[in-house]
Amino acid sequence: MQLSPHFSLESMIASQTAARLGLCNTPTNFVLGNLTDTCNRMEGVRAMLGNRPILVSSGYRAPAVNAAIGGATTSAHVTGHAIDFTCPDFGTPLEVATFLSQQAFEFDQLIYEYGAWVHLSFDPRARRQCLTILSAQAGYKPGIAVG
Ligand SMILES: [Zn+2]
Repeated sequence: MQLSPHFSLESMIASQTAARLGLCNTPTNFVLGNLTDTCNRMEGVRAMLGNRPILVSSGYRAPAVNAAIGGATTSAHVTGHAIDFTCPDFGTPLEVATFLSQQAFEFDQLIYEYGAWVHLSFDPRARRQCLTILSAQAGYKPGIAVG
């Protein structure tokens, strides 16, 4: 089932943790509405990145799945507003995060995470926060940066 032209429900709810632990990661109708909104906004992000394929590493996380991962209880993944992704044909996660931080579009948080992927959330607060986290010990730092 497609939530938008290039993003499927399957890709947005796939979770290795849920599968491994036998946890249900099926969204409620409320969350499904948010996921659909997230995917439609990601169509715009995909276009900004030159219409190159977006690889989704994490979308929705049911509360139990999020807890198993050790995610913050306030994570936008729990409400369906957040997506973790890469766009290898565009560049590294750092290049993608840096580029997106310079574009004019509405988002809540853009986070360069662990040097490995980009977290983008569309929570309606739309704070346009750009952050970097490279290790749990180092925590979140303002801006998109390598160090
Ligand atoms: Zn994330």
